[in-house]
Amino acid sequence: MLSIVPRDMGWIEVVCGPMFSGKSEELIRRLRRAEIARLKVAIFKPAIDDRYATGHIVSHSAQRLPSIPVSSSAEILEKARDSQVIGIDEAQFFDIDLVDVCQKLADDGKRVIVAGLDQDYRGKPFEPIPQLLAVAEYITKTLAICVQCGSPASRTQRLSKDSERVVVGAADIYEARCRFCHEVHDDD
Ligand code: ADP
Ligand code: ZN
Repeated sequence: MLSIVPRDMGWIEVVCGPMFSGKSEELIRRLRRAEIARLKVAIFKPAIDDRYATGHIVSHSAQRLPSIPVSSSAEILEKARDSQVIGIDEAQFFDIDLVDVCQKLADDGKRVIVAGLDQDYRGKPFEPIPQLLAVAEYITKTLAICVQCGSPASRTQRLSKDSERVVVGAADIYEARCRFCHEVHDDD
């Protein structure tokens, strides 16, 4: 008999957008629902991101879920073996190997939900999210509110002078801005 939704099929979902746009909230919502469905859920975040509680993913609205800090994407593959649903927060802090890891997990029948920044503070595509968007089955783009003008905001403004791509921080050095209000300086 033809099965329109093959059983045991995995897939990749990506939730992306700027800081403060609700990516973590959305990830937490989906993972909580998976837990309600009594699925085996594993949640990961990069060890570099220890801004709030280590051992939890936390939203700016203070929602939280226990998570496993990992220092490489290979570690996710290893530790997700027994799970049916895999959540990964702050995916922009992982290297490009995360794409292969997510593909392998999905090929293996797992639902993989990845949240991360799609642009860096200059507004440039932020690997590995663009590559994940290309291979994902489902994509959600979340927008924040521009703190300058109140429009929907797709960008993250860095308020400090650092020019490294990865500077871990929150409300003190970053804010959400729209395309019009976002500023990139020549020496950035
Ligand atoms: P992200 O994971 O995308 O950084 P979070 O899920 O952690 O976002 O936080 C989203 C929450 O942040 C919102 O529900 C709201 O309470 C709060 N917030 C703070 N600043 C803003 C802003 N400029 N625009 C929208 N939400 C904001
Ligand atoms: Zn604006």
